[in-house]
Amino acid sequence: MWDTGQSEGKNMAHLYDFPLFRPPSEANSIIIQATYGCSHNKCTFCGMYKMKKFRVRSMDEIRRDLEILKNFQRSRKLFIADGNALCIETERLIEIIRTARSIFPEIERVSIYATPMDILVKSMDELESLREEGLELIYLGLESGDDEILEEIRKSCSSQEMIKACRRVMDAGIDLSITAITGLGGKEKSYRHAKNTARVLNEIRPKYTAFLSLIPVEDTPLHLRIKKGLFTPLSQIDHLKELRWVVEDLSYKTIFRANHASNYIPLKANLPDGRDEILRLIDYAISHPEILKPEYLRAL
Ligand code: SF4
Repeated sequence: MWDTGQSEGKNMAHLYDFPLFRPPSEANSIIIQATYGCSHNKCTFCGMYKMKKFRVRSMDEIRRDLEILKNFQRSRKLFIADGNALCIETERLIEIIRTARSIFPEIERVSIYATPMDILVKSMDELESLREEGLELIYLGLESGDDEILEEIRKSCSSQEMIKACRRVMDAGIDLSITAITGLGGKEKSYRHAKNTARVLNEIRPKYTAFLSLIPVEDTPLHLRIKKGLFTPLSQIDHLKELRWVVEDLSYKTIFRANHASNYIPLKANLPDGRDEILRLIDYAISHPEILKPEYLRAL
């Protein structure tokens, strides 16, 4: 998910503890690592932060990085990394946002990654205070709406808790960008993964809805299950069929994206208006597999 996206990338490279992940839409944002790694770091399919020991960075470290960044970059957007920086105490998050704003007064929008549990432990007052400070968008990995799959992937959260957390975010006036992953239930649970994910998304109704396609990452527990024959990954066509089952069920207004580097064909539309076009493109790709992205070109 990370590329520097900035011509000054090389000069700023020493600033970050890599790998550094950010959503594609934050390519031009000021990115500050308020934490290193993910405090959960248990999801069976995820290798993003396996090499990092989680820690919350000090205000001195964060301030110093922002001062350095000021020499290279200007942006109206601030993205707070790493994995689930919303787990930081609210007072500290507010201090980070205010410090960033004092150095970059042009910042208008702040965004962050969060797990549902990070949201559920914050009060509505805390979420509303963060919104007042400029937190406009939370990126959250739903991954699946199926409880059995959520348990298998060790998300440490049920679909009902996902829905509750997301409602709190939206009630606080913060937008949500939710990601789910096709293929996460394997061949056996493909249909129920699709239908339950669509059901949960219909209950949440996030402003942005994104789908990735599963890429088994070496040395993760999921990869081990595949090697042992306990999990059957989907074929390219099965990923598309699964996505089709989701899209045909989605009933809310959303900016839909499945144009990530992991997807076999790039799809984007505003739903529900663009649904027929998305379904048509999926059907075309299913009957013309030669247009699908080859495995070696897929990436996370
Ligand atoms: S998927 Fe997200 S919450 Fe799970 S381990 Fe990876 S970064 Fe952490």
